[in-house]
Amino acid sequence: CGIIGYTGKREASEIMLDALELLEYRGYDSAGIALFPENGGPVRIFKKAGRVHDLRELCAKNDVTGHCGIGHTRWATHGGVSDENAHPHHFKDVTITHNGIIENYRQLIERYELDGKLTSQTDSEVVAAVLSHFYTGDPYAAIRKTVLKLKGTFALSIMFDDIPGKIFAVRNVSPIVAANTEDGAILSSDVAAIVPFTTQYFVVPEFHVVCLSGDGIEMYDLSGDKARIDWLTVDWDI
Ligand code: GLU
Repeated sequence: CGIIGYTGKREASEIMLDALELLEYRGYDSAGIALFPENGGPVRIFKKAGRVHDLRELCAKNDVTGHCGIGHTRWATHGGVSDENAHPHHFKDVTITHNGIIENYRQLIERYELDGKLTSQTDSEVVAAVLSHFYTGDPYAAIRKTVLKLKGTFALSIMFDDIPGKIFAVRNVSPIVAANTEDGAILSSDVAAIVPFTTQYFVVPEFHVVCLSGDGIEMYDLSGDKARIDWLTVDWDI
């Protein structure tokens, strides 16, 4: 229902928890964040059914230091409201958050022999598994091959365990906007989460892959060509 991602100099968990609170008005039943830990190692996930307030308490009890992460508020469509079904979802070396509905997730479970290998009942975890199936070191190739298999609506933010500090995102129908901040880069499903940082942002076009890193934002189309970013300015008069 709401997605957020941040990479840069600041504590990603603080930015994400604040942003998820700003997205609360959209309604949700679960919330979670995933982070590259400060001292290296695979992505760590903190997630819970309930409110952002509950997630904040969970984070307060854990070491959530890190400068790159993705977060999510969920409105359950496939799979009940539970801690396991909350996003982010992790499969092998891939972590994702997803807004939308993957209509062919059952066919994908069959096609990629995922039965018994998933830990949630969501359509979303299947996307992480398919990404992981195609990932052999080239994130753009894996994302391209995966989205061509998906039927449905999606805003996906993606992190690969062996590419610390970078967030990838792609969408169909469900929205994603992205922006540079003073000290990094941010993405969200909603401009409301971005206005505290900057008035310059852009709408990620459908089936384009954006990559956020400490050096800024790059965008490619699905054939792998670099794409031009059309910047917009938040209009306070609207
Ligand atoms: N279909 C996904 C789920 O049920 C994502 C729902 C959402 O957009 O929050 O987990």
